[in-house]
Amino acid sequence: MKPLAPGATIGIIGGGQLGRMSAMAAARLGYLTHIFTPEPGGPASQVAARTTVAPYTDDDALCRFADDVDVVTFEFENLPAESLDLLSNLKPVRPGAKILRISQDRLLEKQFLNDIGIPTAPWGPVHNEAELVDEAQRHDLPCILKTTRLGYDGKGQALCRTEAECCDAFDALEPKPLILEAFVDFHSEISVIVARGENGDISSFDPVENRHKHHILDLTLAPAPLPLETLAEATRMARRIAESLELAGLLAVEMFVTSTGSLLVNEIAPRPHNSGHWTLDACPASQFEMHIRAVAGLPLPPATRHSDAVMKNLVGPEDMAGWPAILATPGLIAHHYGKTEARPGRKMAHFTRLFPRGSLPGEFGIEAALKFKS
Ligand code: AMP
Repeated sequence: MKPLAPGATIGIIGGGQLGRMSAMAAARLGYLTHIFTPEPGGPASQVAARTTVAPYTDDDALCRFADDVDVVTFEFENLPAESLDLLSNLKPVRPGAKILRISQDRLLEKQFLNDIGIPTAPWGPVHNEAELVDEAQRHDLPCILKTTRLGYDGKGQALCRTEAECCDAFDALEPKPLILEAFVDFHSEISVIVARGENGDISSFDPVENRHKHHILDLTLAPAPLPLETLAEATRMARRIAESLELAGLLAVEMFVTSTGSLLVNEIAPRPHNSGHWTLDACPASQFEMHIRAVAGLPLPPATRHSDAVMKNLVGPEDMAGWPAILATPGLIAHHYGKTEARPGRKMAHFTRLFPRGSLPGEFGIEAALKFKS
């Protein structure tokens, strides 16, 4: 594939902060971006050359969008795969609809991962109450019951400690089918972000540790403070997944590190990921630049970091109350997503603090590093 020349237009489906930061990376490389989103004036549109505001199912609007761009990518997964099918008849779509379909459906995702030898938590499909009873008996309680589609930030899932809780969760969770997963007693949660070009070039960032608050990512520590063998194994697994999917683009792989030190993949996302925001400030080429490079057919540099980093998400009005103080604190690198209304649970901004490579502090040091003047 010939690299896209500067001045070409990259079409990005989705208008949120991931699209915004991808569009900014595209601009640095000399490209224009055209955002396709149902919502006017969002984070990505504010920094893009053009925006189409239309539902993801509007075929006419999708065709006009395809006409105007040289390549198509996406910044979130909950769009109909059929829309990507339509676009791929008109322009290159990277990553393709096949990867989107796998990542949109937890059953397909887990089956795909296990088929290529990647370990996951034990799981089973739950289409009806009979299957629920079977699966609940096959796996020890507690377990987690999840919707197979449209779940994010802990939505669409329930921890079940008893059979009665399994039944209540089955009734409450929609849409069906569901997936039952064994509860993983994890030591930590990590992720690996891999970029891969259509020509098979591959580049991966070091694994990072992710800590959540109310099911939403709160902190990312880069690199994950884990033994080198665990980090190497996590990287090997993420690259294997990207290669098996014949990825052209970016892929985030979320994993659990179990209490015995083994790795289980939880889910994959074929797009830039919140746990990769630290790369904006700690790496010569961020995850967003890698995404754009992979989509545009440019060479992929090694995903090295010049610094260690801690990234803190700023979510909702509570966190945003600290914004002026964060801006006034030396060493905190702040990124705002341009959203005007700070609703509870809404990701509004993040900041990163860098440390010399190899000197990520321990727990107390991290706490101190996140303090800002108030
Ligand atoms: P998910 O929507 O699958 O990313 O899950 C959201 C969060 O729920 C994860 O980041 C974990 O903290 C927790 N979680 C999900 N699946 C499991 C599991 N099988 N065992 C333990 N915790 C889980």
